[in-house]
Amino acid sequence: DPYLAAEDRYETMDYRRSGRSGLRLPGVSLGLWHNFGGANDADTMRETLRTAFDLGVTHYDLANNYGPPAGSAETNFGTIFHQDLKPYRDEMIISTKAGYYMWPGPYGEWGSRKTLLSSLDQSLTRMGLDYVDIYYHHRPDPDTPIEESMMALDQAVRSGKALYAGISNYNAEDTREAVRILRELGTPLLIHQFSYSMYERSPEEALIGTLEDEGVGSIVFSPLAQGLLTDRYLNGVPEGSRVTHSQFLQENQLSETYLERTRALNDIAQQRGQSLAQLAIQWVLRKDRITSALVGASSAAQLRNTVAALDFPALTDDEIAAIEPHAVH
Ligand code: NDP
Repeated sequence: DPYLAAEDRYETMDYRRSGRSGLRLPGVSLGLWHNFGGANDADTMRETLRTAFDLGVTHYDLANNYGPPAGSAETNFGTIFHQDLKPYRDEMIISTKAGYYMWPGPYGEWGSRKTLLSSLDQSLTRMGLDYVDIYYHHRPDPDTPIEESMMALDQAVRSGKALYAGISNYNAEDTREAVRILRELGTPLLIHQFSYSMYERSPEEALIGTLEDEGVGSIVFSPLAQGLLTDRYLNGVPEGSRVTHSQFLQENQLSETYLERTRALNDIAQQRGQSLAQLAIQWVLRKDRITSALVGASSAAQLRNTVAALDFPALTDDEIAAIEPHAVH
């Protein structure tokens, strides 16, 4: 069946400026790290992407190595893009990244100019795109000068293969350095992508303030702590949940401390008449310090639930204080 995007797709989504740039991103963005690999169901992937676009989720986040197998998320995204979304390319922000292990030998990971520019060409080929909107260095490389990695991002933008430059998983100090270099090169840093949630507070120490000072946007990954900040594991481990199939989420994380904390947060969410996932999204976006919450979804229904977070009134100071004892410190 041919896809026609929902006419009301821009009526409810909140679009938020990425730092001091001209680009606005949806309050909730969709990532394809999990749930879009070689073993995933084609209809579910397609329905999830259609649903995202219909809800005003204009931003899709990928990386060279997403799958498994590595590369398959880009391939699957490209297939669905060409089936359904191609007429809407100018309404979409598509990102990819390089830095983690992708191919054998000295050039398949980290941050050399060779790695970053070769990998971008591979990603464009897998997705069948002429350009991505945001190209990221996926993780800092302790052995390559930041100048070299940033010059490669600048080159990606100048060549037209990317519109904006981003970094991911850099600490506050390296971020300042990257900002300075990219500013000198004339390709200002658009955005930083890092992990942040009620269960991952470390960016509050320095990184978020640095990004605010520098006018750089912030997109936070795993705001639902991979599903730990949802009702998913409150009554056992459901079949097909991430704990059952991903090396990145282990059953031993479902400790008694975890369950106590999460039940308390779930109670606060229920008092607000919402799901814990919705509370977790509103919490990372509170006081407008974060540009976008970058979520995953294993079904269209999950994504609908998550995006509906933006329909609730903002958290009050009292509610934020009530959450505090149950969040990680
Ligand atoms: P989340 O914290 O949003 O976790 C997503 C998982 O939570 C889903 O797969 C699902 O689990 C569960 N879930 C989602 N919505 C709901 C809901 N409404 N109710 C109940 N459960 C729900 O994010 P991810 O860890 O998936 O990361 C998101 C994106 O961030 C990635 O796709 C990627 O783009 C990016 N990322 C970037 C990294 C980097 O280094 N730059 C690292 C990690 C992620 P289940 O599958 O069990 O149904």
